[in-house]
Amino acid sequence: MEKLRNGYLFPEIGMRQQAHMEKYPDASIISLGIGDTTEPIPRIITSPMAQHSHALSTREGYRGYGAEQGNKTLRKAISETIYKDMGIKDTEVFVSDGAQCDISRIQLLLGSDVTIAVQDPTFPAYVDSGIIMGQTGDCISATGKYAGIEYMKCGPENLFFPDLTSCTFPTTDVIFFCSPNNPTGHAASRQQLQQLVEIARRNGSLIVYDSAYAAYISDDSPRSIYEIPGAKQVAIEISSFSKLAGFTGVRLGWTVVPHELTYSSGFPVHKDFDRIICTCFNGASSIAQVGGLACLSEQGRRAIEEVIAVYKDNAATLAEAFAGLGLEVYGGTNSPYVWVHFPGRRSWDVFNEILEKTHVITVPGCGFGPGGEGFIRVGAFSTKERIREACCRLRRLFG
Ligand code: PLP
Repeated sequence: MEKLRNGYLFPEIGMRQQAHMEKYPDASIISLGIGDTTEPIPRIITSPMAQHSHALSTREGYRGYGAEQGNKTLRKAISETIYKDMGIKDTEVFVSDGAQCDISRIQLLLGSDVTIAVQDPTFPAYVDSGIIMGQTGDCISATGKYAGIEYMKCGPENLFFPDLTSCTFPTTDVIFFCSPNNPTGHAASRQQLQQLVEIARRNGSLIVYDSAYAAYISDDSPRSIYEIPGAKQVAIEISSFSKLAGFTGVRLGWTVVPHELTYSSGFPVHKDFDRIICTCFNGASSIAQVGGLACLSEQGRRAIEEVIAVYKDNAATLAEAFAGLGLEVYGGTNSPYVWVHFPGRRSWDVFNEILEKTHVITVPGCGFGPGGEGFIRVGAFSTKERIREACCRLRRLFG
């Protein structure tokens, strides 16, 4: 724990927001920082949750523990809708209380003796949970990197994808890969993911693929690693209802561990992950699972698509506003995040200036890895009106 010197990014932002509110008690703060959803959950999804919840107060409707791996119907619905035509079986889907929790459970499975690679920048939980597991013996370096962890630089100069074919690319046991990436918003192309799968197969690495933002993809980028032939033998996929259906507070996600995925000894990883789930988790809330099932019904899917469209419109508005200011803007089309470059400046300085002068909360890019220095992440989770207001304030500052 001592090695987690940086603290966790979002509590640090929260502290600065709190200090700002104390300094300017009348300011109307617009939070485009922490990626928390803001739109209400459609009733088609909450109604069955409420019904299930009320039934728990009746003798006939009461239910206790469910299967640790999740409700069979929900596992089947996930395999048949999210993984349609990808050949993922319901028994390969483990329902969870969210992707973040599963990242840590996967780390438990991996243990402390593995080497890991991450995109730089990326979602901090992969590195932080790796540090907690003891996957590195050394402290953070002056460049913001932990020894023992391979940071794969993913910036505009390499189309947000590391050069895996270069002979200097080191072999790691595990590659954490997030697409669409948080924070850059980049969705890896089919060709890029084919390369990723190929290198993992060649090196005997395991890919832990995070598809938490897959529902935001508008082009033909793959929505799952299992769209790539051969991925089932090398990849685990974690995902979530959080950004798919506004379940950040409800808590529901899933992890796919294909039966075909084995260690070099030939032993199936699935059996071990099942053991971890049964030991360290006792199954997701039955109420949340009823909600998850409703999300995947035909009407539910239509309803959540409408909500996602709101955030995607917001992202487009933000991207347009920053681009209009002459800044380099990335993301925003396949993701609810816009990634803005401020060359020659430090991310925390840009964060502080924007907060001080516009009362808008963003996220400093360096919090996602040293490769994020000089960038800020702006989130689209807000109302259309608040996003417009934020854009007006930003235009006044940088225009
Ligand atoms: N993975 C990524 C890439 C995320 O950005 C987030 C949350 O922001 C999570 C996982 C965590 O998701 P959950 O709410 O399902 O724990």
